[in-house]
Amino acid sequence: MKVLVTGGAGFIGSHLSESLLEMGHEVFIIDNLWTGKLSNIARIQNHERLHLVVDNILNESVMNELVFKADHIYHLAAAVGVRNIMDHPVETIEVNVQGTEAVLRLANRFKKKVLIASTSEIYGNHLDHTLSEDDNRIMGSVKKRRWAYACSKTLDEFLALAYYDEKKLPVVICRLFNTVGPRQTGQYGMVLPNFVQCALFGKPITVYGDGTQTRSFTHVYDVIWALSRIMEEPRAEGEIFNIGNDHEVSIEDLARKVKEMTGSESEIEYIPYEKAYGPGFEDMQRRCPNIEKAKNLIGYEPSRDLENIIQSVIDYFKE
Ligand code: UDP
Repeated sequence: MKVLVTGGAGFIGSHLSESLLEMGHEVFIIDNLWTGKLSNIARIQNHERLHLVVDNILNESVMNELVFKADHIYHLAAAVGVRNIMDHPVETIEVNVQGTEAVLRLANRFKKKVLIASTSEIYGNHLDHTLSEDDNRIMGSVKKRRWAYACSKTLDEFLALAYYDEKKLPVVICRLFNTVGPRQTGQYGMVLPNFVQCALFGKPITVYGDGTQTRSFTHVYDVIWALSRIMEEPRAEGEIFNIGNDHEVSIEDLARKVKEMTGSESEIEYIPYEKAYGPGFEDMQRRCPNIEKAKNLIGYEPSRDLENIIQSVIDYFKE
């Protein structure tokens, strides 16, 4: 099968592309290398079934040809990372909204199946329960820049479902929760690579806020397994799935665990959000998925626990 991966040189896209090649598919990657990197695909770049196009998904003639050739499209290209989103609000909205609009329009032209990689950010601020696919969204003020990301991805989901309902385009939406693992960089704000790098270099491990906020982390290998199974499952069409891990950890405990597992002497330092991200930032206090829907349909079960996940990130940075 011919498979197009937008954002295929990114952290998740590169692992997915590798796995699709292993399954025997012919893989086309389009990536503008905004946050993607050639080093992520160094291992597969010369593979005979890999075709790399360094370009923007907004380049319609290039995308037209790629979508025409592909049987399946994994749409992963998007603005990545809280720091990036805070620093580049225009690009964030443009790539998320116009990029997905272009992918869906072209996919519909040739009636190609699309998987949209969405995000747990779209749930917004819930405190009291694990998040299920049909939950309401709780968003902060428009003056809080972070929510633009959630809103832009929400619009992508609305558009994907609209194509499914109105045009009978086969689409499926996966909401990814905090995905971590080898090749993820701390450059755009992500907490685990930042903590591990600070710990290994003996620099202070910087916890933003008071550290009581919780997240649930999933290894990228579990995520890409789920994405490819969901893509192949006809009953998933027109549906939304949480892809994450329902084990929660506070950011403060994560810092302690990283310090312990690296044997680091680093201090754990608490930094106010305004200092970390500038004014107008709002964090989510809790974010944990209910993963029953993916469990029931494809037998999804995250196979790597937090220790295993942290260790794989430590090993990656040590290498
Ligand atoms: N965070 C932190 N130190 C860092 C980077 C992030 O304490 O160096 C916190 C951040 O404020 C958030 C959590 O870790 O509460 C997860 O942040 P990340 O950007 O990885 O993901 P997201 O906020 O999108 O869940």
